[in-house]
Amino acid sequence: MPSPFFHTPAVAEAGSLAVLHLRRENLVPIILRASANDGYAEGAVTNTRFGSFPHTTLIGSQWGCQVRASKVDTGTRGRKLKEAKLEAAARAEGSATPGEDTPVGGAEDAATKKRKSAGSHDGSPLSPTKKVKQTVTNAIAEPKAAVEAGSGFAHLVQPTPESWTSSLDHRTQVVYTPDYSYVLQRLRAKPGDTIIEAGAGSGSFTHAAARAVFNGYPPDAQVAGGKYGRVCSFEYHAPRVETLKQEITDHGLDGVVTLTHRDVYSQGFLLADDSSPRASAIFLDLPAPWKALEHITRESPTTPLDPDTIAHICTFSPCIEQVQATMAAMRKAGWIEIQMVEVMNKRIDVRRERVGLKEEGLRGVNANPATVEESIGRLREIEAKLNEFHAKKTPVKAGETNGDGASDAAKKTLSKAERLLQIKQEVDGRKLYKEGNLAHRTESEVKTHTSYLVFAILPMQWVEKDELALLADEVSAG
Ligand code: SAM
Repeated sequence: MPSPFFHTPAVAEAGSLAVLHLRRENLVPIILRASANDGYAEGAVTNTRFGSFPHTTLIGSQWGCQVRASKVDTGTRGRKLKEAKLEAAARAEGSATPGEDTPVGGAEDAATKKRKSAGSHDGSPLSPTKKVKQTVTNAIAEPKAAVEAGSGFAHLVQPTPESWTSSLDHRTQVVYTPDYSYVLQRLRAKPGDTIIEAGAGSGSFTHAAARAVFNGYPPDAQVAGGKYGRVCSFEYHAPRVETLKQEITDHGLDGVVTLTHRDVYSQGFLLADDSSPRASAIFLDLPAPWKALEHITRESPTTPLDPDTIAHICTFSPCIEQVQATMAAMRKAGWIEIQMVEVMNKRIDVRRERVGLKEEGLRGVNANPATVEESIGRLREIEAKLNEFHAKKTPVKAGETNGDGASDAAKKTLSKAERLLQIKQEVDGRKLYKEGNLAHRTESEVKTHTSYLVFAILPMQWVEKDELALLADEVSAG
């Protein structure tokens, strides 16, 4: 199947990966299912804290569109839920002994147990694949949220490495978009290249690297198995390998990403069939990159490098001591142009600052535009009531207006409901330039340090072929 990361259909299709954008920091990956029967009359449903989204309302929607949450009909699920609740309550009553730490609400306890058993055994977070299934299961654990919250909305966005990075299930620390976009351009990654990556971790960098080496090729190019660029990824943690392998398949990346289960410190970077990846770029996100460097030399018979091009490397380490050890190993091994960079990412928060409302409207709610809107709405209401009060106190002559163009005489005859409707219309049809100047701030809470990036280049080896070519040039020049 063509990967949705490279070949996005015009609208969201059944069976494909999509991302529900709830808030900037809250994105949920889902696989859209047209005909699944999850016990809802609506079929498959994704439940979120902003409401329930039946997949039938998402399939066929344009990417980027706003989708409203629906009130879902729990149907048979509702009955099953009731039965499960009663059963669990009876069990809790029968088994609880005085003094025991019995959770309040037996049904909820059963649901929690169910949720836990659906997760990984070591208590680590669920994989996105499990998470996708889990969003449906949540209806049992949180029936109220699922059924009652029908008033929220979300945006349906296409899967991209960026939206995947923001929504994926973190099994490890991940590389974020500001870092990987800078890294990939410094590695000179382009379609057709081969990139080595270790460790693969949660696969955040993997997806961005896959797009960098493959994007632009036709869908059927993927089956060519690496001919059109590939990412050779290595990871030694077996459960992470399994989870990421499944994601790679689910995301149609099999022909582009080769994931090998390997300890690269001791075993290097050859592929499972002992062939060399012949890479031109390497990205090491490992605790001790210098231990892996001894395998990335020109001289080694097991070199993973392409002998016909220079190699670009980047290592990603949080501590300066790791940087020092890495740089020392690079110098020893003949890497040149060694350089350290730190990406200091700052998010700029742009919003409209209304003169007069600044203090009351923004204090304590600066993170949430919806709350700011609500505050402005409330202030407008108070303003309107004050106007009304003053209008009643000060009789005006016929035809005179109170400043906003409306005749006071006319206003006096309006009922409360009519007046509220009028205020609402005024708010809806407001002129933005009257709402104040655009102002921006940097978000103080944004973390600036992720890791130190060390870049270097390994030139091509000077070999007999080069010597002969030079001699030939000299001879022909006389
Ligand atoms: N770059 C990844 C991402 O964007 O999702 C995150 C990588 S995570 C910080 C580091 C990974 O390196 C871990 O998953 C760890 O298991 C793996 N790792 C550590 N030592 C390794 C080794 N010797 N060989 C292979 N993988 C290793």
